[in-house]
Amino acid sequence: MDNLKEQICKNIDAHQSMLLEVASEIWNNPEIGYREFKTAAQVKRVFENLKIPFKDNIAITGCRAVLDTGKPGPTIALLGELDALYLPSHTAADKETGAVHVCGHHLQIASLLGAATALSESNIKDYLTGRIVFISVPSEEFGMDLNRAALKRDGKIEFFGGKQEMISLGVFDDVDAAIMVHSGNEYHYPASYNGFVSKKIIFRGKASHAGLSPELGVNALNAANIALNAINAQRETFRDEDNVRVHGIIVNGGGAVNIIPDTVEMEVQIRAGTIAAITDAAAKIDRSVLAGAMAMGAAVEIETIPGYMPLRNNDAIAKLYEQNLNMLNSKACLKKTGHRASSTDMGDLSCIIPILHAYSCGVEGNFHSCDFRVADMVKACIEPAKLMAMTAVDLLRTNKIARDYEFMGKEKYLESIRAFANKKEFKYQD
Ligand SMILES: [Zn+2]
Ligand SMILES: [Zn+2]
Repeated sequence: MDNLKEQICKNIDAHQSMLLEVASEIWNNPEIGYREFKTAAQVKRVFENLKIPFKDNIAITGCRAVLDTGKPGPTIALLGELDALYLPSHTAADKETGAVHVCGHHLQIASLLGAATALSESNIKDYLTGRIVFISVPSEEFGMDLNRAALKRDGKIEFFGGKQEMISLGVFDDVDAAIMVHSGNEYHYPASYNGFVSKKIIFRGKASHAGLSPELGVNALNAANIALNAINAQRETFRDEDNVRVHGIIVNGGGAVNIIPDTVEMEVQIRAGTIAAITDAAAKIDRSVLAGAMAMGAAVEIETIPGYMPLRNNDAIAKLYEQNLNMLNSKACLKKTGHRASSTDMGDLSCIIPILHAYSCGVEGNFHSCDFRVADMVKACIEPAKLMAMTAVDLLRTNKIARDYEFMGKEKYLESIRAFANKKEFKYQD
């Protein structure tokens, strides 16, 4: 290992207890997307102590600090996500809000702050060129809860994903490449991820006495049932290579058992590996929904909300990351895994710049589940801090960061993501 990287790792080790405390503090105060105020305060406090310039309250709770060497060179972003999930049945869930860090984002913030601390000390920047920006990002976990819906309605956010919002606000305009390390239980990086769109569907029928005169009503729940069956019938048309996932819930299934339900609301997510496959599956879901409304003579409203873009990881950055992993642990290898059917707004960032979204070791159980737990805080928090900082150093030393596929660019990306948004209404009453 060269002297500079050795010093960076020493700096991180010297601050280990502070970083683990930050992680525990965030674990004990989990917050849902775009409400991460206490978590953002932790980030701000560390940046203030480091005396590096930063801007906070970006996209509500996001923050961006800059370490500028004053010499020309690329700008590399290191990221950490601020938000928790809603899972009230988890033993560690917040009693009031039901929030809990079952995706391990509290670990990411500690890693981000570890990298920022190490690179800001010991005159490290004198030996580098270019800039490193440290960005804490709100709301990675997609959700259309009341708070986020209100923020959108009031024009305070445009997108439900924090990175999407930050892209549109220009936070990444000067960034050449970005790295994020997600908590995990195996060193790996997936080649790609699904993207998705979400749909809010409201069937409107007609209420009537369910025993006395059901024939006078229009049953919105039956319309939804037919729609769900039609959606299931579409599954054989999805190609294996597109990795389509369609999953929905009924949010409101009627008000009283003795009344024919006149309003039923559903939410559906449609995921796939390419924009074309998402668009194709989404059109089939719309047709299925219309079939339900048409059969029952109901009205239906379909609102399509942009989700996240498919993600592609950059192999060249992964190679540098793996070399650094080997410096810390000669036996470890960074596995490149195949396509991952889940989604993240890191995919949106991969539409405009080369990114690495890798996984660490140190957590056990399943993501977003009651058995999720951190088994090794050092592996989950401290090691990723070192790997991000070391790989950022490599990227600053690289003249040209390999771009292994065609990027959309910010304007085309925003145009494409906004094109998904629409609201349609159909009426099949006589
Ligand atoms: Zn998650
Ligand atoms: Zn996550």
